[in-house]
Amino acid sequence: MLPNPVQAGFRQFSKVSAMSTVIPAPFPTILPVSESQKGFPVRRVYCVGRNYAAHAVEMGHDPNREAPFFFQKNPDNLDPSGEFPYPPLSSDVHHEVELAVVLKSGKRSIPAASALEHVYGYAVALDMTRRDLQAEAKKAGRPWEAAKAFERSAPIGRIMPAADSGFLDQGRIALSVNGELRQEGDLNQLIWKIPEIIAKLSELFQLGAGDVILTGTPAGVGSVQRGDLMLATIDGLPELTVRVI
Ligand code: MN
Repeated sequence: MLPNPVQAGFRQFSKVSAMSTVIPAPFPTILPVSESQKGFPVRRVYCVGRNYAAHAVEMGHDPNREAPFFFQKNPDNLDPSGEFPYPPLSSDVHHEVELAVVLKSGKRSIPAASALEHVYGYAVALDMTRRDLQAEAKKAGRPWEAAKAFERSAPIGRIMPAADSGFLDQGRIALSVNGELRQEGDLNQLIWKIPEIIAKLSELFQLGAGDVILTGTPAGVGSVQRGDLMLATIDGLPELTVRVI
């Protein structure tokens, strides 16, 4: 079986592009793009922690500008289906509404001044979190994957090309559950701005086309239950409606 051409496009797979694979190659995650018949193939998913002061405070941290920190979800955790299956082994699953920035190119050491050249577009996303498992992990000094990188943990709306939306440096970001407003903020409250996030990430990692960056959540995170309907919105982007099942 030939590798999927999207995967074959990545350099690490180029040597096997003409070779069959011993098991079926995993299908890549491809996200819908607004007004396009073509999709956006995902390479990696990075998330920024504590990037709105009011959320840092509600989680018991200093709201001052410390160096940003990052964690990852898996590409196949992104889910445009509009349904979020309540995950096992948690009784406290939280919503975090976030602006997703998706890259059309990347490299190491990107200067903030030219970072926006690498942005393909933006989407509304949710960083769903098993808060109880995250609290245990924090307490024990353990990694966060069980809390953050579980199946379908990142519902995401249609991607809006930056060519259509312009640079999103301000605008309301909000989330309601069953019609009740839970989270509200403005993109102008981001502690680390989008060009700075890209610059900082690229010091740590070689960024590339297909990378998705979740930029942090405003205050008001809270639990969801099966049956809840989440509505996530950011000014200028297609809204995201997700049913907890
Ligand atoms: Mn988050």
